[in-house]
Amino acid sequence: MELIRIPRIMQDTAKEHMLRGKPIGFVPTMGALHEGHLSLVRRSKQENRITVVSIFVNPIQFGPAEDFQNYPRDTEGDSEKLRKEEVDILFIPDASLMYPGGFSTHVKVEGFSDKLCGAFRPSHFRGVATVVTKLFNIVNPARAYFGQKDFQQTVVIRRMVKDLAMDIDIVMCPTIRERDGLAMSSRNAYLNEAQRTAAPVVFRALNEASGLVESGIIDAAHIQQKMQERILAEPAVSGVDYIGVYDPITLNELSELKDEILLAAAVKIGRTRLIDNMLVNVKKER
Ligand code: AMP
Repeated sequence: MELIRIPRIMQDTAKEHMLRGKPIGFVPTMGALHEGHLSLVRRSKQENRITVVSIFVNPIQFGPAEDFQNYPRDTEGDSEKLRKEEVDILFIPDASLMYPGGFSTHVKVEGFSDKLCGAFRPSHFRGVATVVTKLFNIVNPARAYFGQKDFQQTVVIRRMVKDLAMDIDIVMCPTIRERDGLAMSSRNAYLNEAQRTAAPVVFRALNEASGLVESGIIDAAHIQQKMQERILAEPAVSGVDYIGVYDPITLNELSELKDEILLAAAVKIGRTRLIDNMLVNVKKER
């Protein structure tokens, strides 16, 4: 595995691979890698001659009161995991090279960036869209891999790629979960034992709601209320940003359910913010 830290070198290396007819699969991450990340890496390895993984804790996608400073970092452990997966290139750029003095261009995907998580993290998706654009320009991938766990992120990136005519396939991979259903996340490391025991409540609420939808209930308010009751009944839950039923294409909240729907929640357990979601097919009326 080649380790590259300089964007310019990454860009030249990527160009060489493209010229030799070796399309690149790209997995952008913030590190502290777990099986969720590795599932994207494995998918990329299956589908591309070259796989590039980036690790970059992107300062501009964190709000001033968020966890940028404390975000878990484990470059050595991450490198070891990626070496075992036989990743071709690990790209770890320094923030000073990604955002040198005078940096002043941002990408804002309007209409999606202020919904769901965006309503609570105002400049988050602007930071994500900006860094992903820059990483795409450096890594020059044919395909890029994102997790369904961050469903809204994938929606925002897909819109951006389409709007800006970027010739990159965006592949969304399923959420990988712990045995008790908790979606794997680097932020799970913040949870103490009691909080970790309580955390699967989000998955259970989504799962139960999914069961209700599959049994034929199409009243979104009822589904929303059931999820909320389930989550608020857990004493370790210290706050709820949103819990609801959404259109997976527009991310608008739904009142009546049809076709495919997105159940999504963002919940605080102690000071840790956890997100999760599920896509559910609504039964057709007979
Ligand atoms: P992050 O390091 O949190 O920025 O995540 C990097 C990529 O891994 C994003 O595309 C995430 O959606 C994806 N990812 C994170 N957790 C999971 C998971 N549990 N299952 C699948 N993909 C995940």
